[in-house]
Amino acid sequence: MATSTPSILSSDLFGGRLTIDLDAIAANWTFLNGKLSGAAECAAAIKGDGYGTGQDKAGPALYAAGCKTFFTAVPAEAVALRELLPDAVIYVLDGLFPGAAEFFPHHDLRPVLASVEELKDWSALCKSAGRSFKAAVHVDTGINRLGLPPGDLSAALGDPDLCGPFTPSLIISHLACGSTPAHEMNQRQLKLFREVTEPFSHIPRSLANSAGVLMGPEFHFDLVRPGIALYGGQAIDTEPNPMKPVAKVEARIMLVRDVAEGDTIGYGAKQTARRPLKNAVVAAGYADGMLRRAGSTDERPGGFAMIGGFKAPILGRISMDMITLDVTDVPDHLVQRGAFVEMLGPSVAAAELAAYAETIDYEYLTSLGRRFERVYAPLT
Ligand SMILES: *Cc1c(COP(=O)(O)O)cnc(C)c1O
Repeated sequence: MATSTPSILSSDLFGGRLTIDLDAIAANWTFLNGKLSGAAECAAAIKGDGYGTGQDKAGPALYAAGCKTFFTAVPAEAVALRELLPDAVIYVLDGLFPGAAEFFPHHDLRPVLASVEELKDWSALCKSAGRSFKAAVHVDTGINRLGLPPGDLSAALGDPDLCGPFTPSLIISHLACGSTPAHEMNQRQLKLFREVTEPFSHIPRSLANSAGVLMGPEFHFDLVRPGIALYGGQAIDTEPNPMKPVAKVEARIMLVRDVAEGDTIGYGAKQTARRPLKNAVVAAGYADGMLRRAGSTDERPGGFAMIGGFKAPILGRISMDMITLDVTDVPDHLVQRGAFVEMLGPSVAAAELAAYAETIDYEYLTSLGRRFERVYAPLT
């Protein structure tokens, strides 16, 4: 007799579980919004699939919390977000890709225009449609990525041919060193942004990312665009993170084994047991977004997981599908086959594991969990 196929994948079929707390995302937005004076608006950067949390869930949660303006990176993300949020204001930070302009009014999206070519494309579209569509204008104040050179903003906005046909609804610039508030670049960019936008103070202005929100009111202007802090990340490197954790990764133990002193663990035989070890093999690897460089060698210690309040250092390299943990000092009853260990969450900050991999929590979060079971629930 044929067995029936279960219609829903059971949790037992996954190596790990990624839990996302939408209430925490909403609470983080409310916290940042509370830092603003009444006049400034708190928007949300939701690019990179909501920093890995799932834009389709994070977007509506933020909207319900009161967020009405969103920044995606690419137009395709914005089109998908529009389906979910018919009344939100949606900006596209990457601006106009060639050939993409006509999709913007169709989905009621606003490009963030970063060059004279883009200004021309948008104005041409407005002229042919006979409508003055809204768009933001990006001015570069030192990061040297997107944006008009600061000296060109005034001439561009004052040029009736170039900018007359559309409605500039926002002028933005982006901080290069917000994660380090004491960096002189922040004051330099702030001053330059003020100067070049002064003649256009009738157009709303926006400079702050998450770090800018936390750095204080002079960075807030009319609208702020936090991203990482909404998703629980560390916006400022030099201060404790005030945000609520949003994501948790738990992975299951497949097997617990003894490793003799002098044996090596994992690919490349890069880590040697200095004493007899108990080793737990866990079903999460770099194919799940675990950062491979957070592995451990004899020369350089790697990251760790938490098991019932006990720290379990990573042993050897992180493989595609598994991680080996040193559980020698963890009580036996906690390290049974099938038990879950916390790789990321309230006890293991994303920024912490990322630091072992010489990267940042932004990269870690956005690479997480294509293969994990994904659950939206409070982190308890
Ligand atoms: C990503 C991004 C943001 C949000 O930055 P966080 O550091 O994640 O708060 C804001 N503005 C621009 C232009 C961005 O690219």
